[in-house]
Amino acid sequence: MAREKWKYLVKDFDKMVDTYGLAGNLRQCLACGKCVGDCPAASVSPSYNSRQIIQDVLDGNQKRLLASEEIWHCLWCASCYRACPSGIYFPMLMMQIRFRAVEAGFGLKYFQTYQKLALKAMTEGMTFVPREKGRAKVEKLRSEMGLSPWPEVSDKAKSEYNALFEMTGSKAWVDSVANKPEVPVDLNYSKGRINLE
Ligand code: SF4
Ligand code: SF4
Repeated sequence: MAREKWKYLVKDFDKMVDTYGLAGNLRQCLACGKCVGDCPAASVSPSYNSRQIIQDVLDGNQKRLLASEEIWHCLWCASCYRACPSGIYFPMLMMQIRFRAVEAGFGLKYFQTYQKLALKAMTEGMTFVPREKGRAKVEKLRSEMGLSPWPEVSDKAKSEYNALFEMTGSKAWVDSVANKPEVPVDLNYSKGRINLE
């Protein structure tokens, strides 16, 4: 079966994807695979391979990357960064790949969790607020430690948080992608092929 055709490869995709300048040293990747050896996602998902993802970014294989299921397997734990002899900040690369995927309509079902967390942070100043039972446990532990039962976020802090979301355009961006139609992800990444319709 045919491999990807060169005409689908995007020149300088590594620069394009690094929108925020957080993974500018990708060309220093030694392809040693240490990141894969320490990756919990790779240990449970054989088709997930951070080294291959870097190679695809360098090759400009945008189509295969953005449409792949695998980019949603990363747990963002940064073990790869700790293991990497070249100091490649793979989690930040992955974050930016996901941004582009979501903008293209891929992986929206995975993005919904992030959207909920972002909206929670925006309105409550916290990304995670436990339910009644969990909250009771936290309150008990905090009280035993001599702290206030609950770390209340002041209205001032909440409004500052809200303002940050507005100023940085984060709210508008989250809203814009949340209403996109979902494009199905491609489950054939590990086979090294894309659909050339
Ligand atoms: S550990 Fe670093 S240098 Fe080695 S393959 Fe992974 S990203 Fe590349
Ligand atoms: S951040 Fe992602 S790629 Fe890196 S070790 Fe964790 S799961 Fe693997």
